Amino acid sequence: MRVAVVGAGITGAAAAWALARDGHDVRVLEQFELDHDRGSSHGRSRIFRLAYTEPHWVELAREALAAWRALERETGEALLELDGLLELAPSESDSSRETLDACGVAWEAADPARYGVAGPEGWSALVQPDAGIVRADEARRVFLRGIPVQTGARVESLDDVDADVVVVAAGPWARKLLARAGVELAVTETRETIAYFRHEPGIAAVVDRDATGHLRYALRDHVHGLKAGTHMSGRAADPDEPGGANEETVRAIADWVAERFPGIDPEPVAAEPCFYTRTADESFVLERHGRIVVASPCSGHGFKFAPVVGRRVADLAIL
Ligand SMILES: Cc1cc2nc3c(=O)[nH]c(=O)nc-3n(C[C@H](O)[C@H](O)[C@H](O)COP(=O)(O)OP(=O)(O)OC[C@H]3O[C@@H](n4cnc5c(N)ncnc54)[C@H](O)[C@@H]3O)c2cc1C
Repeated sequence: MRVAVVGAGITGAAAAWALARDGHDVRVLEQFELDHDRGSSHGRSRIFRLAYTEPHWVELAREALAAWRALERETGEALLELDGLLELAPSESDSSRETLDACGVAWEAADPARYGVAGPEGWSALVQPDAGIVRADEARRVFLRGIPVQTGARVESLDDVDADVVVVAAGPWARKLLARAGVELAVTETRETIAYFRHEPGIAAVVDRDATGHLRYALRDHVHGLKAGTHMSGRAADPDEPGGANEETVRAIADWVAERFPGIDPEPVAAEPCFYTRTADESFVLERHGRIVVASPCSGHGFKFAPVVGRRVADLAIL
């Protein structure tokens, strides 16, 4: 089958990889250059974690872990750095303990100070060892190895794409592109902000979930040391409109870093925007409409699932 994949972010890359392994004639169409920073997949790292409070995400993450490991074995590339995630939550019931137990996933109670982190008095603190970071840029490059990618190729109409199946992995551009083909995608695009801080290597990832479920996070970055953000704090935006990091959000992130990481300089050394393509319940949209396969897994947590999503997309393409 001739399959065209629109978008060379992590979703399009992982889908192209799975489709090529199934023996299809795959090509990727990307509107910008590879490694551009205008969508959702740019950057050196993303959190990989099993620690979710909903069992279906834990199970999917577990499947993804096996798939990342298989990819590493097959390509000889180290893509995961899993030396643990520290999860802080106001109480045990706000934490992922119960869900991890129900799913049979190992975790231990932790002293945050051991990791240079200040956990508020009385909060639950746990370490989940099968967690850390995915080397994001490397992962995209590995998935695209050997796949023909046409850059500077913006698809304006899916009708113009010459292929048996068209996978739309267009991130925050997907809704408008699909609408022109009569396919509705119920998502909102928001421009989020992350900031970088100078930090000596510590635990790979820290997630702080407050009583309202609001998530702040920090993870290893191989250039500056620490990357931090506050989940779902961005405003609705058009990815074709210019826009940078939000100053107010950078300050909020810096305040959280100052509180949680008392040993480091809370002055950010860099900040950048990144798009979320959100569904109402943070689920992913993977569905088929005629020859179009929609692949929209984001809501700010889709990277870690890429090899599983790629596989699901390839399965949808052959139905
Ligand atoms: C700040 C931030 C932090 C995150 N942290 C984590 C994390 O720690 N862990 C985690 O698991 N996930 C995380 N995520 C989520 C994860 O990064 C996304 O789920 C993932 O990158 C989505 O990738 P994508 O390929 O679907 O979209 P994109 O990366 O946006 O890729 C879409 C591609 O399609 C191209 N394109 C669009 N329209 C067209 C067109 N018409 N023609 C040709 N090409 C087109 C675009 O140029 C782009 O390259 C985070 C996201 C952000 C923004």
